[in-house]
Amino acid sequence: MTSEINLEDRYTVPGRYWHRLDDGRVQCDVCPRECRLHEGQRGLCFVRGRVADQVVLTTYGRSSGFCVDPVEKKPLNHFLPGSSVLSFGTAGCNLACKFCQNWDISKSREIDRLSDAASPESIAEAAERLGCRSVAMTYNDPVIFLEYAVDVADACRARGIRAVAVTAGYAGEAARRELFAHVDAANVDLKAFTEDFYRRVAAGHLQPVLDTLQFLRHETDVWFEITTLLIPGLNDSDDEIHAECAWIAANLGPDIPLHFTAFHPDYKMRDVPPTPPETLTRARRIALRHGLRFVYTGNVHDAEGGRTACPGCGEVVVERDWYVIGRYRLTDDGRCRSCGTALPGRYDGPVGRWGARRLPVSLARAGG
Ligand code: SF4
Repeated sequence: MTSEINLEDRYTVPGRYWHRLDDGRVQCDVCPRECRLHEGQRGLCFVRGRVADQVVLTTYGRSSGFCVDPVEKKPLNHFLPGSSVLSFGTAGCNLACKFCQNWDISKSREIDRLSDAASPESIAEAAERLGCRSVAMTYNDPVIFLEYAVDVADACRARGIRAVAVTAGYAGEAARRELFAHVDAANVDLKAFTEDFYRRVAAGHLQPVLDTLQFLRHETDVWFEITTLLIPGLNDSDDEIHAECAWIAANLGPDIPLHFTAFHPDYKMRDVPPTPPETLTRARRIALRHGLRFVYTGNVHDAEGGRTACPGCGEVVVERDWYVIGRYRLTDDGRCRSCGTALPGRYDGPVGRWGARRLPVSLARAGG
């Protein structure tokens, strides 16, 4: 286990958001946890800590691995459809979800197992070489590796590669503002719609996530979609789904895509059964009744729940089976080929044909 923080370490850089407290501790302001640290102590995310009287990030330029995925896997259904995305993450997380599906990475305290060293420039160069139209900071939350995430996003944009953040939206105000000024798209994980769930199951709070969603919608032009992982008995009641969808419709409008995805038993929650497909269908129907126009089911084969219908004429303009796009009836700039209505999202050229492939790649071996 690597726990000692060393300012000389090549992966350790000064953090941007923190301040001193009267009692001698320093407070990290990157996320709402507001960890208050003594010298040598790490925060809950484990990748930030205090050394030499400042808060540092200890994973700048270190990755848990790279993989080329379909962008639909992030999930993003209205962002460069069918294209491939170079995905990577680091270690650690600022939430502590008992159902985490990436816990080997997010809860890793062994930073040394981060195998790929990668500068922002080498990531952008690799994405270009591999024909990816975007780079996704995913697996764990880019909020906690903010300084690295922002530099990666900038290096990508300089080459015409888009930057994507897959995030729980659990960010402090200034960190949130900085991160989303540098990315083009995001998928925000809205884990549930009760404070009780966030507190008991994820060890966090709901309101900061809602603040992030409001911020994205009203203060940025970042394209974003929302994902809710439905867990049997914990966040899948009709009442809770109604409340979530009503909030989205009233605060974000009907055009933000919403993905309901299926839970599979993992990490500390192996006693809960997998989500039945009917639950996803039920949730989708509720969302449609609230007027949301683009509601998808994920982690299942569901022809109905994988479709996009044109809000103008009702024609099915995109069919998907898991991550594979079938019928595609949009123009290169995202208009319905039948009636010309513009679909919300980011469309730029013909549909990609990456399909469902998953291609692990190593940047370290390439000298990145
Ligand atoms: S990012 Fe969040 S969890 Fe990590 S040290 Fe800062 S306040 Fe704590």
